[in-house]
Amino acid sequence: MKFATKAVHAGVAPDPSTGAIMTPIFQTSTYVQDAPAQHKGFAYARGANPTRAALQKSIAALENGKHALCFSSGMGATDAVIKLLQPGDEVITSNDLYGGTYRMFKRIYEKFGITFHFIDLTNAENATPYINDKTKLIWLETPTNPLMNIVDISAFVEMAKPKKIKVAVDNTFASPYLQNPLDLGADIVMHSVTKYLGGHSDVIMGALVVNDDALHQELAFIHNSCGAVSGPQDSFLVLRGIKTLHLRMERHCINGKLIAHFLKNHPKVGKVYWPGFEEHPNHAVAKKQMRDFGGMLSFTLKDDSIEKAHTLMKSVELFSLAESLGGVESLINHPASMTHASIPKEERLKSGLTDSLMRLSIGVEDGEDLLADLNQALEKV
Ligand SMILES: *Cc1c(COP(=O)(O)O)cnc(C)c1O
Repeated sequence: MKFATKAVHAGVAPDPSTGAIMTPIFQTSTYVQDAPAQHKGFAYARGANPTRAALQKSIAALENGKHALCFSSGMGATDAVIKLLQPGDEVITSNDLYGGTYRMFKRIYEKFGITFHFIDLTNAENATPYINDKTKLIWLETPTNPLMNIVDISAFVEMAKPKKIKVAVDNTFASPYLQNPLDLGADIVMHSVTKYLGGHSDVIMGALVVNDDALHQELAFIHNSCGAVSGPQDSFLVLRGIKTLHLRMERHCINGKLIAHFLKNHPKVGKVYWPGFEEHPNHAVAKKQMRDFGGMLSFTLKDDSIEKAHTLMKSVELFSLAESLGGVESLINHPASMTHASIPKEERLKSGLTDSLMRLSIGVEDGEDLLADLNQALEKV
């Protein structure tokens, strides 16, 4: 089955009791058993729920994986992966991670005796000196937020496989429409379903996708034991959102490309970070592992000031000033005063997060309207 067909059909079947074409919202905590321990595969809803089960099948199919598990948030899903580890284990990860992931690794799991090496992974060789017998996991994110750095998934798989190190990829920014890490040999895919998979800015959810049966068993055990499971109502909303994932992503990519080129040619704009540009340092890797370049980009103003950025953000009318991404509506945000405000200025500047850097999550509106909105806002700067 091709992607669009899977987005519409995978995992969902008419409800056997009524013929309802849409998977019902099984809003129940428990299931009546015929005799002690004799049930229809559903005993208690933390362990299994039919609405969640349909969604898990759908997401697994989109990632070309065998199994998926849906969690109460992206962070809940990431947390389950780290719970595979033991004190003394080491993890290699990027110095350019989603802020919440960095916070969990650093502030929650370091105190349980797990060591995290935060490295610039845009060049895979940078990781070599940190690999040893204690390395159990490589945690990748690509493209990264907000500078749209690209990490070569295959290069890390090659490095990890002979040493039996697991490779996990946070595939949130690309979505399964643009990138399938399991096909490249990764062991685990993580999604903040909150973003493109849900797609309508109305749900918080996470997912893990794997091929290996034993790894699925281990993660399902953590899922049920620790309990960060997605609810039936949210699972229904995401099942509904996924049916148009391919259509949305296609438009996100068209609009992203249009806006990236418009900004690049605007006299008031400084740098534009978008992996579709040939001069992007990892454009070749992006082209190799992604089908298109998505709807996320960041840019700076030539006159790099917080005030000028604030003027622009106050002047846009179609773009909403908000955190998050991947919904149908276009969003703008300012890392220096929002998502990355807690990072000291010198460190922020060192990693390229300058004062005027703004991130856009390009929605599925008419591209010409989005362009006109940015144009009028830039004129006021
Ligand atoms: C949002 C996000 C997360 C966290 O997901 P939640 O659903 O908010 O818990 C993790 N990684 C990336 C790249 C994200 O954008």
